Amino acid sequence: MLGENYKRITDRLAAAAAKRGIPVTDITLIAVTKTVQPETIREAWELGINDFGENRVQDGLPKIDALPTGPRWHFIGHLQRNKVKQVLPNFVLIHSLDSLRLARALQKEGRKLKKTVEALVQVNIGSEESKFGFEYDEVLPAIEEMAGLDALRIRGLMAIAPFFSDPERTRPYFRKLYQLFTGIRVEGVEMRYLSMGMTNDFDVAVEEGANMVRIGTALFGPRDY
Ligand SMILES: *Cc1c(COP(=O)(O)O)cnc(C)c1O
Repeated sequence: MLGENYKRITDRLAAAAAKRGIPVTDITLIAVTKTVQPETIREAWELGINDFGENRVQDGLPKIDALPTGPRWHFIGHLQRNKVKQVLPNFVLIHSLDSLRLARALQKEGRKLKKTVEALVQVNIGSEESKFGFEYDEVLPAIEEMAGLDALRIRGLMAIAPFFSDPERTRPYFRKLYQLFTGIRVEGVEMRYLSMGMTNDFDVAVEEGANMVRIGTALFGPRDY
C-alpha cells in the first residue's frame, strides 16, 4: 500500500512540475509521520523517501531515536520556546517559525550550540484565528529583524492553506504567497524554500510555486490527528 501511494504521489508531483515547467527533482516531498510508527517510517525510507516531518516534539523524538541516522527530519508544528533545546539537535529545518519571540529563542539556543538554525517563516495565508503564523504585512519587517540574528538563517516561507473540499479554491492563496516569496529582498537572506501543499492541495501548490510539500494522509492513509 505504501509503495502504491508513493508512486501515485510522485506521478502527481511529476504532472504538476511539468505543468509549471520545472524538473520534479526540484520538489522535496516531506512525508508527515504524525501517528505513524517507526517500522512504517523505515519502510518509507527504504522506498527512497529521505525527508520526514513531525509536528510535535514529544512524538517525534522517540521515532527519530528508533530509526537509523540518515533521514532528514523537519519540524512542522507550532514550537514552544521551552522545546527549542530538544528540537535543534534533531531537526534540519524548522518550517513553523511563527513569532519573533521564537526567533530570539532559536538565536539564543543556536549560539549556545554553535549552530546555525535553519527556519522558514510561517505565514497565516487565510488569516485564520485558529492558525499560527505572521500576517502578510508582518512578514517583511519580521524577516528584516530576523536577518540580524546571526545564529538564525531564514530559508523561505511556509503556509497551511485554508481547507476547501475543492482544492482549486486554494490556488489564489498559494499564488499570493508565491508573490510574497519572490518579492522579498533582504540583505543576507536567500528565499530558497516555499513549503506549501498537503494531501488535499499539493498539486495546486506545486503548480503555484511550492518546492516543498508536506504529505501525510495520501502516503500513510487516513489517521486520526
Ligand atoms: C499533518 C500536517 C500535514 C500533512 O497533512 P495531510 O493532509 O495528512 O497530508 C502537513 N503539514 C502540517 C503542518 C501538518 O500538521
